[in-house]
Amino acid sequence: MSAKIPVAILGATGAVGQRFVQLLAAHPWFEVTAVAASERSSGRRYAEACNWVIPGDPPPVVGDMMVSPLEPELPARIVFSALPSSVARQVEPLFAQAGYLVCSNAAAFRYEPDVPLIIPEVNADHLALVERQRIERDWSGLIVTSPNCTTTGMVIPLKPLDRAFDLQKVVAVSMQAISGAGHPGIPSLDILDNVVPYIGGEEAKMEGETRLLLGRTERGRRLPADIVVSAHANRVPVLDGHTICLSVGLGGAPKVEEAIEALAAFRGPADVRDLPSAPEYPILVRPEPDRPQPRRDRDAEAGMVVTVGRVRRCPLLDLRLVSVSHNTLRGAASGSILNAELLVAKGYAA
Ligand code: NAP
Repeated sequence: MSAKIPVAILGATGAVGQRFVQLLAAHPWFEVTAVAASERSSGRRYAEACNWVIPGDPPPVVGDMMVSPLEPELPARIVFSALPSSVARQVEPLFAQAGYLVCSNAAAFRYEPDVPLIIPEVNADHLALVERQRIERDWSGLIVTSPNCTTTGMVIPLKPLDRAFDLQKVVAVSMQAISGAGHPGIPSLDILDNVVPYIGGEEAKMEGETRLLLGRTERGRRLPADIVVSAHANRVPVLDGHTICLSVGLGGAPKVEEAIEALAAFRGPADVRDLPSAPEYPILVRPEPDRPQPRRDRDAEAGMVVTVGRVRRCPLLDLRLVSVSHNTLRGAASGSILNAELLVAKGYAA
């Protein structure tokens, strides 16, 4: 690619927005040309408006940018949205209507029947829904969404199990990092030395999005997978990285070794594997009895790999396993950048 594609970040000052700024500083295809946030931040230098929580400082080229208001007049072709859902609901359609390719992390449009919800290795073919979206909404741009961060960490390992052994039931218990609640997030006195067994709306997202991602599309319609998912969402005092304990019921009856083989060999379609942010293998299976752990495993392959371990028999369903994934990287900014790379590879940014 000769000239880089100009991109903007909406909600650039937040927990996910900062990850976009960090990752896009060295991206081979994209160049950040604008950062936008709330009225509190707009008109200020990014480095001053933002409470940078990633080690080090913001990349100087973005740190010196003035934060723009959320108006669809940004000098960009692609916009990454890291806005709260209520704001995204208002703002993202304005950008899509104005011709921008919107790659969203927010839940606002994930469940619309004509908006793709995508993990490229899992369901890149769902991108075809944008054709219906553009016709029916009369948008010259489009909206593509990424799943909830916890859903991403469960669906990537569930996909090869479904493909090989016919997934039917899932019990998922999450232990979710505090950065998943954004910045400043949960008061320290509420979460240190504690576990909070409730995250508003999270369990419904884990259940519904799993069915959508593992489902299929037919003539522009989404057909969710016929899988029963029971989710328990917990907030734990970990900075980054969601851990999920999974029990799965399968139509096939694989041996543990066969399941491990299917997980470790899993790869996306050939055209996804070549994208700049795609890891060679999206799942890393650890053999040690005490892995994965968020502090040790969340950054595997620049936070793009889901680390899985403790694959073993389940006396209630068929198999049990544990996954760890980085919630603001694979579960948010990096996952969304991979979606944008897919859009470019499929010719949408031309
Ligand atoms: P956050 O830290 O609270 O950041 C929110 C961003 O949106 C900030 O840039 C903020 O700007 C801006 N904003 C807030 N209220 C606004 C308003 N009324 N008008 C305009 N801009 C406003 O949240 P986050 O954790 O980064 O999450 C962003 C989105 O990604 C959410 O939809 C979330 O559900 C989703 N997501 C988060 C994660 C995660 O792990 N955190 C993972 C996947 C998806 P100011 O700084 O100017 O207020």
